[in-house]
Amino acid sequence: MAQRLLGKEVTAALNEKIKGQVAQLKEKGINPTLGIVRVGEREDDLSYERGATKRCETLGVGVKKFLLPADVTQEELMKTIQAVNEDDEVNGCLIFRPLPKHLDENAVIKALAPEKDVDGITDGSMTGVFAGKAQGFPPCTPQACMEILDHYGIDCTGKKAVVVGRSLVVGKPAAMMLIKKNATVTICHTKTVDMPSVVKEADIVIVAAGRAGVVDDTYVSEGQVVIDVGINVNEEGKLCGDVNFDKVEPIVKAITPVPGGVGSVTTSVLVGHVVEAAMRKYM
Ligand code: NAP
Repeated sequence: MAQRLLGKEVTAALNEKIKGQVAQLKEKGINPTLGIVRVGEREDDLSYERGATKRCETLGVGVKKFLLPADVTQEELMKTIQAVNEDDEVNGCLIFRPLPKHLDENAVIKALAPEKDVDGITDGSMTGVFAGKAQGFPPCTPQACMEILDHYGIDCTGKKAVVVGRSLVVGKPAAMMLIKKNATVTICHTKTVDMPSVVKEADIVIVAAGRAGVVDDTYVSEGQVVIDVGINVNEEGKLCGDVNFDKVEPIVKAITPVPGGVGSVTTSVLVGHVVEAAMRKYM
């Protein structure tokens, strides 16, 4: 049976580190605070907001909400981003996306101050990821994957890694972060020929395809570490990953479950970024 790489174990360790940093900041009279910009009331956003707010509260981090109606004008939204940028109380900002279709998302992203971009959405943050520099912040999900590898002492140096998915939010930054960890990286996507053979060759596999159970026993081999980023709802209405857990788990060395894997680490990574933003500014 494969080792389960459990999000809650990684989160517990991250939370301890974050609490220590929050204590240091509070000693200097600084209360690290996350700004949340939400347009409308999409259930996905509300659910993520509840999780992030609760995690912030647990870790002693403040939350300041900037809530706008679904029919907000571009001008009003841009003014709100400006207000977030100028608000000294707010150290990092989460903007829920996608925004309603009448809004220009790129303009909103461009307007966000790079030092407050704790969700890694600005070009400045992405440049940091690709250059391997601490500029802005990496997107939280691929960083959560790296935190899992680090926590379980999985050394990437010299290892073959395959990332399934090439989105700017997960696949591409995950590949860059694995390169920084000295892995030799291949990225697969929908045009990859004979993906099972490519994935089988890897030591470390990160799957972010957005397709329930796309990676099954025909894709994997013994000794592999598999990180499943996917969050899908299956035909029975249950949460499941992009990896067919029941088929893959008996073969590989280690695997993240869904739920209970990457998703649960992502929120702590976000809160960690807010605290790091405050540390960069004040310490
Ligand atoms: P996305 O933007 O839809 O990108 C999916 C990528 O996977 C694309 O590059 C696509 O290739 C590739 N792909 C799709 N089907 C494939 C297949 N059958 N074989 C090979 N490649 C395939 O999705 P995303 O935003 O990166 O998210 C990926 C998954 O992660 C989703 O399940 C999402 O819900 C989940 N997610 C989880 C978290 C978390 O905190 N755990 C956060 C964000 C996202 P092409 O480029 O060729 O189309």
